[in-house]
Amino acid sequence: MGEFDLIARFFDRGPARVAELGIGDDCALLGSIAAGARLAVTSDMLVGGRHFLLDTDPVGIGHKTLAVNLSDLAAMGAKPVGFTLALALPEANEAWLQGFSRGLFELADRFGCELLGGDTTRGPLNLCVTAFGEVPAQAALRRDRAQPGDDLWVSGELGGAAYALGELLAGAGQTLAQSARERLERPEPRVGLGMALRHLARAAIDLSDGLVQDLGHLCDRSRVGALIDWPSIPLDPALSLLDPVRQQSLSLSGGDDYELLFTAARDNRQAIAALSGRYGPALTRIGRIEAGEGVRILDARGAPVTLPLGGFDHFA
Ligand code: ADP
Ligand code: MG
Repeated sequence: MGEFDLIARFFDRGPARVAELGIGDDCALLGSIAAGARLAVTSDMLVGGRHFLLDTDPVGIGHKTLAVNLSDLAAMGAKPVGFTLALALPEANEAWLQGFSRGLFELADRFGCELLGGDTTRGPLNLCVTAFGEVPAQAALRRDRAQPGDDLWVSGELGGAAYALGELLAGAGQTLAQSARERLERPEPRVGLGMALRHLARAAIDLSDGLVQDLGHLCDRSRVGALIDWPSIPLDPALSLLDPVRQQSLSLSGGDDYELLFTAARDNRQAIAALSGRYGPALTRIGRIEAGEGVRILDARGAPVTLPLGGFDHFA
C-alpha cells in the first residue's frame, strides 16, 4: 500500500460537505465564515510512546488525536468546523489504520467537523491535528478575562486519566476498570458546554496538564490569583479508595482530564448551575479568583495544602 492508496483508503471520504474543496488538491478551500465570527485555530500533536503507550487501542488513539484539539476549541467556546491531519507512521499497518481512522471519524462526525487535508509520511509514530472552529467575535472564551471575585468552576470529575495512566505504567492494566481506562483513552471534548458558556463565563481553559498548572496559566494571562477549596474538588470515582495525598496529587496535578475550567461572575451562578449536566457532566464551583497572583489551595480546616504540586512539562 503506497502513500496515496493509504490516503484514499483511510482518509479520503469523497466530496467535501463542509469545505468548498476538500482532500485531493494542494489546499482545501473553505467558504468564508459568518460575518462577525472569528476563526479559532489550534494544533496538538500526539507522539507515540510519549502521549500514549504504543500498544494503546488504535480506535482510542484516533479518538484522542482529534479529541484533544476539539477540547481546545471547546475551551474557546468555538464550534468545530474542520481539521487537517499530519501523520508520520513507521509502517502502513492496515489493521492499525482501520482502527485509527474509525476512532477519528466517529468523533469528527459527531461534531460535523470535516477532515480537510493533511500530510502522510514515514517516520516514528506522530499524529498532528490542526482544528478550525468558529466563534462570535465578542464571545470567545479567552484565558485573559478573569476578574477578582469571579467564581471558579470545573466540569466533570478530576484525576481519573492520571490514575489510569499510573496503573498502566505500573503494569496493572489487566485489573484496570474499563471506565477508568476510558477516562484516559476516550476523553470527551466539552464542545456543547463551551458553546453554552459563551455569554456566561468570563475566562476559560481546558485541563490538559493538571488543574493547578492550567489554572496558573489562566491566572498569569489574567494577572490575577486563585483560591481552590480542596473539599469541593469533584474526584473521579476511581480515586475514592486512595489515600488523601494521592487523591490530591492526581486531581490537582494529574494531566489529561480534558475538562473545562472557567471563571464567571457571581451573578451568573444560577444560570451556570442550570447548565450542570445538560451538556455532559455536572459543573462544580471549586473556588474563586482573587487579586494578586498564584494559586492557593485550602483544605477542609482552611489550612493551605502544600504538596509538591506541578503539572506536566515536556522540557522540565
Ligand atoms: P502536496 O504534495 O500538494 O502537499 P500530498 O500529496 O501530500 O499533497 O497530499 C495529497 C492530498 O491528500 C492533499 O489534498 C492532502 O491534503 C491530502 N492528505 C495527505 N495526507 C492526508 C491525511 N493523513 N489525511 C487527510 N488528507 C491527507
Ligand atoms: Mg502540492
